[in-house]
Amino acid sequence: MKSCGVSLATAAAAAAAFGDEEKKMAAGKASGESEEASPSLTAEEREALGGLDSRLFGFVRFHEDGARTKALLGKAVRCYESLILKAEGKVESDFFCQLGHFNLLLEDYPKALSAYQRYYSLQSDYWKNAAFLYGLGLVYFHYNAFQWAIKAFQEVLYVDPSFCRAKEIHLRLGLMFKVNTDYESSLKHFQLALVDCNPCTLSNAEIQFHIAHLYETQRKYHSAKEAYEQLLQTENLSAQVKATVLQQLGWMHHTVDLLGDKTTKESYAIQYLQKSLEADPNSGQSWYFLGRCYSSIGKVQDAFISYRQSIDKSEASADTWCSIGVLYQQQNQPMDALQAYICAVQLDHGHAAAWMDLGTLYESCNQPQDAIKCYLNATRSKSCSNTSALAARIKYLQAQLCNLPQGSLQNKTKLLPSIEEAWSLPIPAELTSRQGAMNTAQQNTSDNWSGGPAVSHPPVQQQAHSWCLTPQKLQHLEQLRANRNNLNPAQKLMLEQLESQFVLMQQHQMRQTGAAQVRSTGILNGPIADSSLPTNSVSGQQPQLALTRVPSVSQPAVRPACPGQPLANGPFSAGHIPCSTPRTLGSTDTILIGNNHITGSGSNGNVPYLQRNALILPHNRTNLTSSAEEPWKNQLSNSTQNLGKNGLSNSSILLDKCPPPRPPSSPYPPLPKDKLNPPTPSIYLENKRDAFFPPLHQFCTNPNNPVTVIRGLAGALKLDLGLFSTKTLVEANNEHMVEVRTQLLQPADENWDPTGTKKIWHCESNRSHTTIAKYAQYQASSFQESLREENEKRSHHKDYSDSESTSSDNSGRRRKGPFKTIKFGTNIDLSDDKKWKLQLHELTKLPAFVRVVSAGNLLSHVGHTILGMNTVQLYMKVPGSRTPGHQENNNFCSVNINIGPGDCEWFVVPEGYWGVLNDFCEKNNLNFLMGSWWPNLEDLYEANVPVYRFIQRPGDLVWINAGTVHWVQAIGWCNNIAWNVGPLTACQYKLAVERYEWNKLQSVKSIVPMVHLSWNMARNIKVSDPKLFEMIKYCLLRTLKQCQTLREALIAAGKEIIWHGRTKEEPAHYCSICEVEVFDLLFVTNESNSQKTYIVHCQDCARKTSGNLENFVVLEQYKMEDLMQVYDQFTLVSKINLPLHYHPPHLDTVPWTLHMRPFLLFRK
Ligand SMILES: [Zn+2]
Repeated sequence: MKSCGVSLATAAAAAAAFGDEEKKMAAGKASGESEEASPSLTAEEREALGGLDSRLFGFVRFHEDGARTKALLGKAVRCYESLILKAEGKVESDFFCQLGHFNLLLEDYPKALSAYQRYYSLQSDYWKNAAFLYGLGLVYFHYNAFQWAIKAFQEVLYVDPSFCRAKEIHLRLGLMFKVNTDYESSLKHFQLALVDCNPCTLSNAEIQFHIAHLYETQRKYHSAKEAYEQLLQTENLSAQVKATVLQQLGWMHHTVDLLGDKTTKESYAIQYLQKSLEADPNSGQSWYFLGRCYSSIGKVQDAFISYRQSIDKSEASADTWCSIGVLYQQQNQPMDALQAYICAVQLDHGHAAAWMDLGTLYESCNQPQDAIKCYLNATRSKSCSNTSALAARIKYLQAQLCNLPQGSLQNKTKLLPSIEEAWSLPIPAELTSRQGAMNTAQQNTSDNWSGGPAVSHPPVQQQAHSWCLTPQKLQHLEQLRANRNNLNPAQKLMLEQLESQFVLMQQHQMRQTGAAQVRSTGILNGPIADSSLPTNSVSGQQPQLALTRVPSVSQPAVRPACPGQPLANGPFSAGHIPCSTPRTLGSTDTILIGNNHITGSGSNGNVPYLQRNALILPHNRTNLTSSAEEPWKNQLSNSTQNLGKNGLSNSSILLDKCPPPRPPSSPYPPLPKDKLNPPTPSIYLENKRDAFFPPLHQFCTNPNNPVTVIRGLAGALKLDLGLFSTKTLVEANNEHMVEVRTQLLQPADENWDPTGTKKIWHCESNRSHTTIAKYAQYQASSFQESLREENEKRSHHKDYSDSESTSSDNSGRRRKGPFKTIKFGTNIDLSDDKKWKLQLHELTKLPAFVRVVSAGNLLSHVGHTILGMNTVQLYMKVPGSRTPGHQENNNFCSVNINIGPGDCEWFVVPEGYWGVLNDFCEKNNLNFLMGSWWPNLEDLYEANVPVYRFIQRPGDLVWINAGTVHWVQAIGWCNNIAWNVGPLTACQYKLAVERYEWNKLQSVKSIVPMVHLSWNMARNIKVSDPKLFEMIKYCLLRTLKQCQTLREALIAAGKEIIWHGRTKEEPAHYCSICEVEVFDLLFVTNESNSQKTYIVHCQDCARKTSGNLENFVVLEQYKMEDLMQVYDQFTLVSKINLPLHYHPPHLDTVPWTLHMRPFLLFRK
């Protein structure tokens, strides 16, 4: 029983607020018109409806007492629609929102979407309505419009972190990020779902299953195995989950080499699968897997029996038939093999593996013409993984045929019927004896068996589906979707799996448009070789290869969007008929909605309120930043007297009059193409006086200069860069730890996939660790090796005086990969001033505004170390070492000095374009904040994004201004040092706070604790810039309000607040669950409090694990009076009174252990 009384009550209470409103409105509108024909709702019914909104989705049980609710909802929809019709659509916006909810609960998605759209178009502050955003997210989710569903759900949690369906949201975010291959985010959300003890539509066991499967998908097989096995220990584990877990374990043991030697693995695999079948004897998939296991250890009879069971128990699957074919082929029964393969390709015309196997079979029987036809069909399928090898094979066979004397083939007796004949052969008795497998959904396919060529039974509609998922699976999916609210946990799990498989497939289909090559995951099959293909030995290596195919469960099958349909010539059609998935709004349709063209009126039925020109959706890009200026002003109050409870439920420190943060749209008007390679702002220094010249500081921090290169800085200041040379570093601390990133050596400014076939954004960069001494050795030997190669090349040139064509050949080959791997020594921590005394001292010679520690640097006011931000980091490079694209943590500025001897090349995009880059990352399924990406310069040029590009020579300092996006690669062998600074400017503070909020929305930790920092700034700094002052003051006001409100609420609820105070230089706190900054009131578990480990939670996470907070103590770190005093005393000073009394903290005496995650130059 999932439906919970608690949430019903909550929903009712929340809905009461606008329930009244709606009654008034409904009554008002209705009374003005003739009421006769329209159905009306009784007061009782209205009251009941007041408690129904999107939050009940998945919790209304229509088949139990829910039947009454369903009837009520149906009636309500009719009433509302007729009212809207009478009022000619002129009703209040909430009316549409409610109607959206009712339709959502009735699972009438097109109508729900329509109504929500109307609400959105009428209600400018729609984003304050969490139930609306949640309902909209569910609709998007239903249509697999994941990017939008993600946005809607993230906004719900942003505007209401304590939303009663937070668990459901985290679960769905986890699923969607999993499908989008953003595994880090997926794991985080699954874990956040697990922590929450509220109900959701999956059990915790099922969520744990998804976590285990997430590991498996990432090829973290040991973690996956451990997680699956742990899950099996769960008490009262449902049979279906148990069966699925055992099935995964079994198949993993069969396919993954890492899990032991072959014999042991196979024996485990068989045991797991047998146990899985004990838990669920009707799983055709498990029988199929078992067959594959038996087949691989040569137990042919057992394999046949298992395959037959599979076909009896579930839908006929092309994979199964293909495997049966392989088995027959191994047994030297070519005719049986032929018929099995034909079964496979009739079920799935695009089954490349079956076509290839069939081709090989024909070749082995000396029927090259038939073989060619089969291979051609295989290459037409987009799931074909080795098109080029096949093409070569086809060419080879064709050439052989040409060389044969005319008619020599015709005269031979054929061992096998031709492919055309085979296609229309009656089904062999042995195969037809399947029971129950061919159910109604499959009638068309069965007809194909009983005779006649495929053309006489054109199964077009059905086949359009079967290309992707089998029709049976799709039908199953539809059935599950239709009964979404009444599924048992096992069915829900199945539904989720099918959904994600379906979506994955659609996504691939989208990506496969055009000439893009498909590299299907892990599918090794059929004749791979070129001319070395086995031509006559059936029992050769081919069948073994065929058996290594990975079926669709662990790696959901990717099938082409639309390969050729079987037409007049049987399977050999060149015609391509566009496939469609009429019943679901797939990804393609989604894009259409995004541009506000909903196609056709069909999906909206006869909904009267839909106005065509009002088709706008909240999750289109809207530029909201322009309105962001206003609320900074006007909302300040000089005292805390009027602190009320009017604050929003969320804890935004940014603004309370603005919607959740959104990335900015591309600046308008777009720059002309000839302005896309602007010159880099550069300053040449000649002497020390130049370096300390005040306008230099202003130039660098001017928002119009995204980057500044200060040339010759080291020379002008006589800095001893030798202190950072590899030689000195080794002498100073040879055992010091170096993080290593293993990367591909890419050509110049491009980024190719590992095979060198296409340019991609994803930038491979695997992490490991070593020491300075070892990296130094690598750096030196890489240099030596390059010298040697250079010499060899030179002598080679002399000896053979190569022609131009050869050298261009070489470069062409290099581009195509495979690429050499290189190692980049990164994020080397130089914070320890005992270990790095000389080095750090040398840097105090720098002008104040670029110094690691200075009174004018915001990061010096944080009061504790943030590794790599207010401490120095070192980078050791060989040519090609890449720092992927990023903005600095919380948009702070950064300083980077090249030590040399080699150069670095920089690419820089102004802050205003980060939304465009964020979009590109989204399109490439990369996480903009945490992912590793290298922009494709052609894409940027297309999108009118300006890119600054320059070389940083030894001794040059690069200043990256606030929010600037940048990526860097080493040209030569060199070391760099870098850190962050925060100039005291309105621009820096604003961008830092905006990123703080965006991070919160994205569930990413803000490395700079902006609330803590703002209070420190108020204590330490006098500000004369009115804009900066207002923003800081506003942040103080907001957090003060929040602390006070929370405090009062806790006291009112009888919760004791324990004074804890702060030790000097204690770091800021973050929630150990969701990583949001926690200020002043810390929620610490009783256990952790008594152990004095003080593991901090935010209020929302504390309440999710313990609704009434009984497991938590609340520790208070500041006295309200003190905070108020700081607030009051923080006043704007006039410029004349400057320079001011700064109170810089003494960073050199800071002893804290570091609780911060080190600054991540490379995102995971
Ligand atoms: Zn939290």
